Amino acid sequence: MRFPLAPTAKIARHIVKHKLKGTPKFAMVLQLEPLHTCNLTCTGCGRIREYSTSLKDMVPLEQCLAAAAECDAPMISICGGEPLIYPKIEELVAGLHEQGRMVYICTNGVFMRKKMREYLASAYTPAFEPQLAQLLTEKLVTEKEAESIRKADAAAKSKVVIRPSKWHYWNVHVDGLEFTHDLIVEREGVFKECVAAIQMAKILGYQVATNTTVYKETETAELEEMFKFLSSLGVDGHTISPGYDYDAAKKDMVKRLGKDPAQFFLTREMTRQKFKDIERWGQMFTIFGTPGYLEFLAGKRELACSAWAVPTYNIRGWKAPCYVMTEGHYPTYAQMLAEVKWDRFGVDDRGCGRDARCENCMMHSGFEPSGALSSSPRDSWINFKYNFGSRPAPYPSSPELTRAAYNGATIGKGHLAEAKEAVNREFAGVKSAFARGGNDLPHDHAHGDSGHSGGSGGCSSGASGAAVDQLADLKAKMAAAKKIEVKSE
Ligand code: SF4
Repeated sequence: MRFPLAPTAKIARHIVKHKLKGTPKFAMVLQLEPLHTCNLTCTGCGRIREYSTSLKDMVPLEQCLAAAAECDAPMISICGGEPLIYPKIEELVAGLHEQGRMVYICTNGVFMRKKMREYLASAYTPAFEPQLAQLLTEKLVTEKEAESIRKADAAAKSKVVIRPSKWHYWNVHVDGLEFTHDLIVEREGVFKECVAAIQMAKILGYQVATNTTVYKETETAELEEMFKFLSSLGVDGHTISPGYDYDAAKKDMVKRLGKDPAQFFLTREMTRQKFKDIERWGQMFTIFGTPGYLEFLAGKRELACSAWAVPTYNIRGWKAPCYVMTEGHYPTYAQMLAEVKWDRFGVDDRGCGRDARCENCMMHSGFEPSGALSSSPRDSWINFKYNFGSRPAPYPSSPELTRAAYNGATIGKGHLAEAKEAVNREFAGVKSAFARGGNDLPHDHAHGDSGHSGGSGGCSSGASGAAVDQLADLKAKMAAAKKIEVKSE
């Protein structure tokens, strides 16, 4: 079967239980952000900007566990920030397992090998020698590290660690092949480290997933190559989602200057174009997601937003209405469910955003659960078929695939300095035209200030504001980097 039986059965039971009880809204996945500190500064990341004044704050362990217990989501996605920086991450994972929940750690991969060495040190017996030998052969640990694993002291032996489990996935952020990924995370070498971490995890018996965000500039052909490569590494599954593409300043230009929205946004139509192969990929690779959501991305159906099913909890509380938008934070999940005016968000029957910021959104955190929660007989059948169908075989590894993957710093095409220079040179005019002034990924403001247009006749909105969101930087760099790549050939 495509996914492990025990977690799949648990999720199915959770849905059936709430359907039988007639619960109108309930949590499926908790996005738990114990902190927003990160070791990277990815340009497209809204978190380190929106919560820039509280990067040092952390949610106490007990509060994290209480949030999971309160919403009772069967799956917990620990994100952030970089969750492996959270000092009690091991205790958090252990506590969530004790509550019987499936745990995904969404990580940039940089600290994964350190955490797995800690596991090895705590669990080491001579029976681990074959794995250690393989790790040494593949240069995934050094001789010195192997020795310190073998000679672990009592403190290392008794440390709480993150062990391989069918209830746990490392969920590694990978947005493209080496050139693109390092560009997006703004640091060369990160892609290579992610791959090393994935290889080490698979040798040690961990489950590994990857998560990929698709931007306007993302090339679908590259995504397919990326999936082939990741599959050849033995990655167990992939999540993929369009990026959140809303920018009030650009929206305003569309409206005032009559520009084509496609010039600025990853519109729904463009998203569907980018995801036209998603169902084929779902057959080739283990894409995590309901078939209903894949059909939605491919443009074959509409889905309603059910952001309440994927709530976010962080240092300020329960973030409403969704993972990307912030209108407020609530002390409890129950209060958030009761007080948010959910019908102000999502899209209407014409596919127009009820709130201007929802108009182009097709994010998995809003729409994925809608496919899973549908009770139509057809959806139940396709969900069953997809989950219980056979798992796609790993893509065969080959030197060509590896060569194609390492298309950046590894082969001397380190692009970052050149890209930054190109951005400054070629995009300075664009930046000044938008009067760079901040991030309109929504801020934590009072209810009612949502940018909601309430307009009629088409999907136009009255949103305005002199801001260029952080994605503009990323997009400019990606465009600039592609030029550099062409020049270098
Ligand atoms: S449609 Fe709107 S409310 Fe729903 S996830 Fe997207 S941005 Fe959030």
